[in-house]
Amino acid sequence: MMAQYLALKAEAGECLLFYRMGDFFELFFDDARRAAGVLDIALTSRGAHDGAPVPMCGVPVHSAEAYLARLIRAGLRVAIAEQVESPEDAKRRAGSKALVKRDIVRFVTAGTLTEEALLNPRRANVLASVCEVREACGIAWCDISTGRMELEECLPGDLGAALSRLCASEVVAPDDWDAGGRATASRPRAEFGSEAGETRLKAVHGVATLDGFGQFTRAMLAAAGGLIAYLDHAGRGKLPLLLPPVARTGATHLAMDEATRASLEILEAQSGGRAGSLLASIDRCVTGAGARLLAEDLAAPLASKRMIDERLAFVRWLHDDPLLRAELRDRLRSLSDIGRALGRLVAERGSPRDLGQIRDGLVEARAIGEMLRGTSDRPPLLEDLLPSLRGHGALTDLLSLAIVPSPSTERTNGGFIAAGYDASLDELRDVSSNARRAIAALEARYRDETGITALKIKHNGVLGYFIEVPSRHADRLMAPDCGFTHRQTMANAARFNSLTLHEEASRIAEAGGRALVAEEAHFEELVAKIASAREAIARTAAAVARIDAAAGQAERAAEGGWCRPEIVEEPCLDIRDGRHPVVEAALAKLGDRFVANDCVLGSDDRLWLIGGPNMGGKSTFLRQNALIVLLAQAGGFVPAAAARIGLVDRLFSRVGASDNLARGRSTFMVEMVETAAILAQASERSFVILDEVGRGTSTYDGLALAWAVAEAIHSGNRCRCLFATHYHELARLAETCPALSLHHVRAREWKKDLVLLHELADGPADRSYGLAVARLAGVPPGVLARARQILDKLEKGRVETGGLAAGLGELPLFAAAAQVTEDHRDTLRQQLQSLDIDALSPREALSLLYKMKQAVAET
Ligand code: ADP
Repeated sequence: MMAQYLALKAEAGECLLFYRMGDFFELFFDDARRAAGVLDIALTSRGAHDGAPVPMCGVPVHSAEAYLARLIRAGLRVAIAEQVESPEDAKRRAGSKALVKRDIVRFVTAGTLTEEALLNPRRANVLASVCEVREACGIAWCDISTGRMELEECLPGDLGAALSRLCASEVVAPDDWDAGGRATASRPRAEFGSEAGETRLKAVHGVATLDGFGQFTRAMLAAAGGLIAYLDHAGRGKLPLLLPPVARTGATHLAMDEATRASLEILEAQSGGRAGSLLASIDRCVTGAGARLLAEDLAAPLASKRMIDERLAFVRWLHDDPLLRAELRDRLRSLSDIGRALGRLVAERGSPRDLGQIRDGLVEARAIGEMLRGTSDRPPLLEDLLPSLRGHGALTDLLSLAIVPSPSTERTNGGFIAAGYDASLDELRDVSSNARRAIAALEARYRDETGITALKIKHNGVLGYFIEVPSRHADRLMAPDCGFTHRQTMANAARFNSLTLHEEASRIAEAGGRALVAEEAHFEELVAKIASAREAIARTAAAVARIDAAAGQAERAAEGGWCRPEIVEEPCLDIRDGRHPVVEAALAKLGDRFVANDCVLGSDDRLWLIGGPNMGGKSTFLRQNALIVLLAQAGGFVPAAAARIGLVDRLFSRVGASDNLARGRSTFMVEMVETAAILAQASERSFVILDEVGRGTSTYDGLALAWAVAEAIHSGNRCRCLFATHYHELARLAETCPALSLHHVRAREWKKDLVLLHELADGPADRSYGLAVARLAGVPPGVLARARQILDKLEKGRVETGGLAAGLGELPLFAAAAQVTEDHRDTLRQQLQSLDIDALSPREALSLLYKMKQAVAET
């Protein structure tokens, strides 16, 4: 047995091996140690291997799903080795001591799940594959629970942003790929070939060319090749549901990098988990599919005015008609998850219940379509969706005839095919129910004949049908020639068989067996019918999801008194009475009111410098405006009285952290790397929020950097920007930067108490109220008094010397930039000096010359 186990384990590689033994999956050696730790189950041992006892643990087959879920959540992968022949077959094959054959039937990994119990109904489950082909990164991703698949290409530097948008639960990459600390499933490089990828895609969809699906680059196809090869490997040759791939190209979406996503807490709060995230505060969807789509919309807001306006028009239509919305949402609430049922059925992991769900879902989708057709002034987006809601008449008729009203998830016991669908199945069922009746009659007859009123005919899994009498009557049935054969004696009863009972029981068993075979055949047939309509069914599922997502947005907007944003092309931002949806909800729970604030940016006033005391509401203001842009471009209403939003191409959010040690780099380093990314990437159409940049280092360094960054953003990037800072000195930037204006969050000291008004006002902050905040926080009076003395001294010094920023006003703007050019010239000079001209080929010399010229041109 160990030999068989070790061979399978070698095949399973880094996956834990679930080795089927009877009613248990057993794990051995290191697998057992790891699983026992994660699952908190007993670690035992069995036999010996190389002289040492073998560590072992096991989970019962019937509850394996729950254990699998925990292992997957802990980031592990599992290979399932099943018995692939019966013990009888094994004996027939190789004698009485034969070992039952086992084989790995499936790899269970986070990205390849379809089971309802293992998936979150409100989140897509994304499996992504990445690879580099000639300086370009291909990404292929799919959600096999619904079959969606997309291919895209990006520059290597943008890969992190793309992957963070996808929130993939598993990433597959070639084994020679530098994953940069990401957990990936490594697969042989050979599986990531563009030609192989194209061939596989064609084969999966039975087409001679992919042109009908879109234009795909070599990098996209190579990633797709790797993805399909991995699915093939995980399913042991059985591919799950895959819909035709969609090519996602460049600028259709608002770009956000990983740091921005994390800091805006879009899908998850920084503390981890959904609670406290933007998604959690927005999501009013009543179906899982709607919630999955909303999460996707928020993770990838649009960058096309036309598409945003289409979504907004749909949301407004639903917003303006509360009765229709309520009725629609009521109907959607009972809708089954068609997409995921389809995913399970096509992956051959479906159950009769999934057939019922497809039937009920499609029927309800059609009814919803009919209801919507009865309305007037329908928005174009809905008009486009309506045809997808019908067209399954033949299939739903067939399923209605074939399947009982509420089929179970258990397929092996039968009973899910409806009466009247198949005459021969009905007959078989008649035979067994007649036989059951005959058995009941037999019981009555035996009671009469024997005079034992306590005689019963019973059934169990071991004996099948048998006759049972209390022990004191047993002798009567033991008599020879009385027609009963003794089978078992219990403490209080004795059990018998009889020829007639045996005959009736056999009739039941035979008819039952044949009925099961017939039901199984019908099941396969129906699944095949559904599979052949997979694309149309998936379209229906997607249409219903879009309707639910829009209705959820409309509901949220109505609940919060939100407005429809106006989207324009010119780079402006005009938000009146804006609010932060998450903070507002949190305050409402405490009975506190949120103070709404305006934000008005345009090309001649595009950088707002915001000062004011700690806890005054600066961060909240910054974020609320970023979230309003994000929500608007995702096609939803926004928490404001009015909003006019110039389309944003890239959104950046940076927080000068002092306490968040990401990826082992020093916090300040992280802060600067992120700031550098903004300076390099933000365009005139971007929107940037910078919160206390420079905080992570000493006062002079921090002020100097904040100053230079603000200048560069103002005059170099020229993007819209909100810049919160506690450096008063930065206010002097207003003298040299015409498109920069000063603002502050208001506070008042009242009877020595600090009152934070959370209200934004024009002009620089008059003072920082640092000591008042400290007092509010409970710093002891003695310490505060000492701080006051020190502060007075410092401030006196400031008045005398002109302060930290003395003389900065005279610093010519971008004098620093001139220095950079100078440095650059020096590098060129050094390069020339160290050059060995004789060692260069003419071609190398020429290319070097080009490079140098280009370097000069870039400065
Ligand atoms: P800062 O960045 O200035 O230190 P925050 O934005 O972190 O301040 O705000 C601190 C707290 O003040 C928030 O947690 C919230 O409870 C409250 N707050 C912020 N903005 C508002 C507002 N507009 N209305 C009401 N309360 C607010």
